[in-house]
Amino acid sequence: MQTDVLIVGSGCAGLYCALNLPKDKNILMITKDIVEHSDSYLAQGGMCMLKDPDDFDSYFYDTMKAGHFENDTAAVETMIKESPDLVKDLLSYGVDFQRDEDGNLAYTREGAHARNRIVYHEDITGKEITSHLYEQCKKLDNLTIKEHWTMVDLLTKDNCCYGVVVRKDDGSLDTITANYTVLACGGIGGIYRYSTNYRHLTGDGIAVAIKHGVELKNVNYVQIHPTTFYSEKEEDRSFLISESVRGEGAKLYNNSKERFTEELLPRDILTGNIRKEMKREGSEHVWLSMKTIDPEQLKEHFPNIVEHCKEHGYNVPDEMIPVVPAQHYFMGGIKVNLQSKTSMDQLYAIGETACNGVHGRNRLASNSLLESMVFAKRAAKEMTAEFDKTKTKSFDNVDFTPYEDKKKLEEEYKQLIRDEIDKENAKMNDEEKQEN
Ligand SMILES: Cc1cc2nc3c(=O)[nH]c(=O)nc-3n(C[C@H](O)[C@H](O)[C@H](O)COP(=O)(O)OP(=O)(O)OC[C@H]3O[C@@H](n4cnc5c(N)ncnc54)[C@H](O)[C@@H]3O)c2cc1C
Repeated sequence: MQTDVLIVGSGCAGLYCALNLPKDKNILMITKDIVEHSDSYLAQGGMCMLKDPDDFDSYFYDTMKAGHFENDTAAVETMIKESPDLVKDLLSYGVDFQRDEDGNLAYTREGAHARNRIVYHEDITGKEITSHLYEQCKKLDNLTIKEHWTMVDLLTKDNCCYGVVVRKDDGSLDTITANYTVLACGGIGGIYRYSTNYRHLTGDGIAVAIKHGVELKNVNYVQIHPTTFYSEKEEDRSFLISESVRGEGAKLYNNSKERFTEELLPRDILTGNIRKEMKREGSEHVWLSMKTIDPEQLKEHFPNIVEHCKEHGYNVPDEMIPVVPAQHYFMGGIKVNLQSKTSMDQLYAIGETACNGVHGRNRLASNSLLESMVFAKRAAKEMTAEFDKTKTKSFDNVDFTPYEDKKKLEEEYKQLIRDEIDKENAKMNDEEKQEN
């Protein structure tokens, strides 16, 4: 198969990229599961935006501070400045963000934000945004979407990408060649036992990048979400209790029902405090109380969270719920520039798979939907401008033997990522020891 642009992944990054490519180019999008099964659909809290120019400095500072000032400042500036245009696009697609009594956009707040600057739709903002992107994509005559088609490798020669090897929905293996390949494969939660991510998001883009020597960045920067619903049952995916719940006033307690931390600290610091308290008490979780939130407001703003708690036997806000930290987000990834270009020719990476340095060492809440889409559009713009310079190459005699054992390949890829994370952690520990 041959296409002009191949997009691997159908989350908000992949879909928004497709919407920004020219209508005279053939786009093929492949996705490992169904379109609706991406982390983009799971985003609860909302999406940050520059609500007025006066908030620029404060928003910039909050992002940098959460990232321990290791962020790429140009990337942060770009993301913030381009956020109003993105929101305009989303509104034009029919995305229904919460409004105040005067009909203006309403803004909520999450941990480590000095001000309210997050647009949202109940506690299903990701679904609201991504389903509208998908609806727009369905209208494109130049886009074909293949569900349950999994990229298992890149086709490369002399540091240029010419497409991928794919496992199709019927299990057969094939090649797809393309002038441009865009990796939009999401995060790496699937390699962890406890994660808020979909289980099939196993960092495949990262694994093939490692295999082919594509540069990575901050690959050991993995965010743990401080508050996911604790369940004794080994649920597939940890259910997130959004940071906005704490933003709206929910409080954390230990097993003696005592407060032990500030609730709106950056995620890594709060996670550390919760783990420390759990260790001190020898407990499996701590407690979150939503009593401080008006019950009507709770039901209106967080209907899914209220429902999930109820399904698991907790009546909020009257009862506290048990919460525990779990893997949530990958700040590192395939190293890209401000146009989302990787170190390999004709290969772009966008969304959680990519690392342009926007998040530094720790992501500020609600910056990831925004970052995914802002830099997806920038990739689309550069691909459009540079398309005539691309080359294609046919790969007729690819040996599919290494991909035949699906389970073995999946394990190999997971291990590649774990080894890379361990290597980077060891390097960082050595550097820290030398500094001391
Ligand atoms: C529970 C939860 C709540 C969140 N809440 C927020 C929030 O409130 N605000 C915010 O800004 N961010 C939030 N995030 C983070 C945000 O949702 C993600 O960072 C963002 O959606 C990533 O988008 P993406 O397009 O890069 O990846 P995803 O949406 O995860 O999409 C990845 C796609 O790649 C496909 N794929 C993966 N591997 C392959 C392969 N080998 N072949 C083919 N296809 C492949 C998948 O099937 C999927 O379609 C949340 C995340 C979670 C898990």
